[in-house]
Amino acid sequence: MSDEANPFESLQEQIDDAAAHLDVREDVLERLKHPERILETNLTIELDDGSLETFKAFRSQFNGDRGPYKGGIRYHPGVSRDEVKALSGWMVYKTAIVDIPYGGGKGGIVIDPREYSDAEVERVTRSFATELRPIIGENKDIPAPDVNTGQREMNWIKDTYEKLENTTAPGVITGKALDSGGSAGRVEATGRSTMLTAREAFQYLGKDIEGASVAVQGYGNAGSVAARLIEEELDGRVVAVSDSSGAIYNEDGFDAAAAKDHKDETGSVTGFEGAEEELTNEELLTLDVDLLVPAALENAIDADIAEDVRADVVVEAANGPITPDADDILTESEVEVFPDILANAGGVTVSYFEWVQNRQRFYWTEERVNDELERVITEAFDALTDAYEENDLSNFRTAAYVVAIRRVVDAFQQGGSWP
Ligand code: NAD
Repeated sequence: MSDEANPFESLQEQIDDAAAHLDVREDVLERLKHPERILETNLTIELDDGSLETFKAFRSQFNGDRGPYKGGIRYHPGVSRDEVKALSGWMVYKTAIVDIPYGGGKGGIVIDPREYSDAEVERVTRSFATELRPIIGENKDIPAPDVNTGQREMNWIKDTYEKLENTTAPGVITGKALDSGGSAGRVEATGRSTMLTAREAFQYLGKDIEGASVAVQGYGNAGSVAARLIEEELDGRVVAVSDSSGAIYNEDGFDAAAAKDHKDETGSVTGFEGAEEELTNEELLTLDVDLLVPAALENAIDADIAEDVRADVVVEAANGPITPDADDILTESEVEVFPDILANAGGVTVSYFEWVQNRQRFYWTEERVNDELERVITEAFDALTDAYEENDLSNFRTAAYVVAIRRVVDAFQQGGSWP
């Protein structure tokens, strides 16, 4: 994975690319290229052996023109201020393309949670929740899971917030377990939107998804669910998947769910009996497949790798997996890329459904959640392809940003001038 591209600069470049097709004033645009505010804090906790350790943490509130800030919290040693800024900006355009009433935010702690006990991770999480308390809230900023965080961390954050505020406010955070006020369908939602985007993309391009060969980079929540649903619901043929320990390949395809079970049991997809051979992650990204799904971290496909990408269609489950230079190369070589802000928007969309249910204290069936999600993603896909055709654009990412920026700018300008 390249560390050359600064994800925040990538975000700004993506905004500029789309703005060239929009009638938006330069000064209004400038505002959309920077976060409104960032909390940077140091969390000091006691480790199990009695010593102290301090962890850097961030929360970026990028833009709130369309509603409360919304976005996940990531635990990873590579978390940085610029990464959090970029991820929070992508959330603004993601909530706008799927037209849900939120702005964008993102947070992260510089930590490798695997190196700490559960009790230590809980203390770090509660410490972060305490720091976040004044700036989050059901109407202000609503965090959610991201890389290396899940229901457990969300439940702790909700519990800390509610205890400190002496209230019940399940809508302060989404991605909770069902008994803590979570929504049916939330765990699968990101992968489901990737599957739906792939289905719509193949249909739009006049390609057959049934039997299509599929490679998935990253086999966590987003990647493994996307692979399973592409197989189960679209009859796609998953031929390769990977995680941070390596990649596995079988030209005839294998059982995506069984590969996930193997990863859960052993910690890695490598060694899975359904595989014929093992590959490097770079080999996976350059396989000659019909569909490539990057679902690990940002900058997975840089310019060097892009030169060798042979997939026909790329559907981005990860946030920012393709650097701007690589994007240009893929556009040039007519690889059709369907962007993250649509393809992984299922997570935030079902988070929105969770928040709606929390506020109404009325809970939906999984079927209703999935039906509503399908409606949101297909409508967003149609808005994107309309913009692509109307503006005669060269790629679908720019089309997504054209739609999203228009919506954010309209909300800002309708608010009038203040102060
Ligand atoms: P996760 O921690 O569940 O999974 C990440 C996976 O990527 C793991 O299997 C890990 O081994 C693998 N990985 C890490 N480095 C790799 C590398 N160099 N090569 C190959 N695999 C590698 O995380 P997740 O929640 O699935 O998130 C993955 C991506 O999807 C991130 O970009 C995240 O921001 C994005 N995303 C997630 C959600 C969600 O709801 N989970 C929503 C929107 C976007």
